[in-house]
Amino acid sequence: MKSCNDFSLSILVPVFNEEESIGPFIAALDNALSSLRHQLDIVFVNDGSSDNTRKVIEGLITNDPRVTLVNLARNFGKEAAMTAGLDHVKGDACVIMDVDLQDPPELILEFVKEWRTGEWDTIYGVREDRSKDTWMKRVSAGGFYRVFNWLASETTLPENAGDFRLIDRVVIDAMRQLPERNRFMKGLLAWGAFRSKGITFTRPERHAGETKFNYWKLWNFAVDGLLSFTAWPLRIWGFVGCVTSLLAFLFMLKIVIGASFFDIQTPGYASTISVVLFLGGIQLISLGIIGGYISRMYREMKGRPIYLVEGVYGQYDKQNLVEGYSVANAKHVEKVSPVHA
Ligand code: UDP
Ligand code: MG
Repeated sequence: MKSCNDFSLSILVPVFNEEESIGPFIAALDNALSSLRHQLDIVFVNDGSSDNTRKVIEGLITNDPRVTLVNLARNFGKEAAMTAGLDHVKGDACVIMDVDLQDPPELILEFVKEWRTGEWDTIYGVREDRSKDTWMKRVSAGGFYRVFNWLASETTLPENAGDFRLIDRVVIDAMRQLPERNRFMKGLLAWGAFRSKGITFTRPERHAGETKFNYWKLWNFAVDGLLSFTAWPLRIWGFVGCVTSLLAFLFMLKIVIGASFFDIQTPGYASTISVVLFLGGIQLISLGIIGGYISRMYREMKGRPIYLVEGVYGQYDKQNLVEGYSVANAKHVEKVSPVHA
């Protein structure tokens, strides 16, 4: 473990159309983390916002050398934005958090305290009570964690944990080595099986604006997560096929023997159409699932970058940070190094 305050901490914040939230977020962060002020830097990843988010962050940069803006070329989604952020943070550890104040900045002090013991590489927030979520969201989230942990046996997702967490440089560097395009970050972080600890907190309501995740997006997100971490949905069809064939064979025997030896004539239409429709449905589901894996393989094979950066803006460098926060360093918004991934 390093000596008392000899560390730097990056705050990574993906933002998508959040112009109203950024000011209150910085104020709350400064308020809660005044004791860490000289060790902090804040990396906003602007995920293709169409409102004034970019301008608001550039305004911050003019007065605050701790702020960096990684401006993505378009909206790539939160998982890609977090990946972009991890490629740009410079701290010894990084806290990933939302800008809408649903992840309370005060908790970061506890994260840091645990991290500084040297026992943990990841300290994540666990939502204590989800009563503010809708019934549907609670049930679907609970179901998802159960199914995921049951099927993806080598990765255990902690229940009720979001992306809000502190991760050590070891974890940041490990995540950066993962080449996959389907970025289900919670799963990737859990897959690494780092030494992790959960800290419970009550999640407040969104400070301003609206959630960017509707049910359709959440459903796709859940499917992405599942298919990225287990091949069971693919493998199950072999078993389903065997069982159905066996049942079909027994049924056929019954009908043939009945008709040949006992003169039992089974009326056909209703039973035939039910079996045909049932099997048709099963086949379409299995094809759909195979399609789900193939489309993800297709995406991986194309090897396109996970995100594209339009530019990186700010005046932060580690030297300033070690010497302490200095407004004198803040001149104008300058383009430090456009990185094209
Ligand atoms: N976000 C993003 N890209 C997106 C959607 C969301 O960077 O395509 C950011 C958003 O600005 C916020 C965080 O991800 O800082 C969490 O989003 P939100 O609050 O809508 O999610 P929820 O809390 O409802 O799960
Ligand atoms: Mg939110």
